[in-house]
Amino acid sequence: MNRRSYKERDNSNYEAMLADSTIRYCTGCRMCWEIVKEVSNSYGNKSANKYVKFYNHIPSWGKQKLKCFHCLKMKVEKFVKLYYTRKLIK
Ligand SMILES: [Zn+2]
Repeated sequence: MNRRSYKERDNSNYEAMLADSTIRYCTGCRMCWEIVKEVSNSYGNKSANKYVKFYNHIPSWGKQKLKCFHCLKMKVEKFVKLYYTRKLIK
């Protein structure tokens, strides 16, 4: 019967999950972003590919404010090298 509270609980779980990752907020384009590492394994050769993932509908509160590579006018390869980290810098 209580559909609304169920939905709210769902959202808070989602937030808790996001708070644990390295999502930053760009004040330039007002989007949250994260550098994601993707490891592919083909024929025993492991290769890691890092790319920037953008999130449209995430609130900016609690996020580290850092401009994305578009707004810094930086090449994505250089940007990823500079800012990829598993931990939040506080
Ligand atoms: Zn930006």
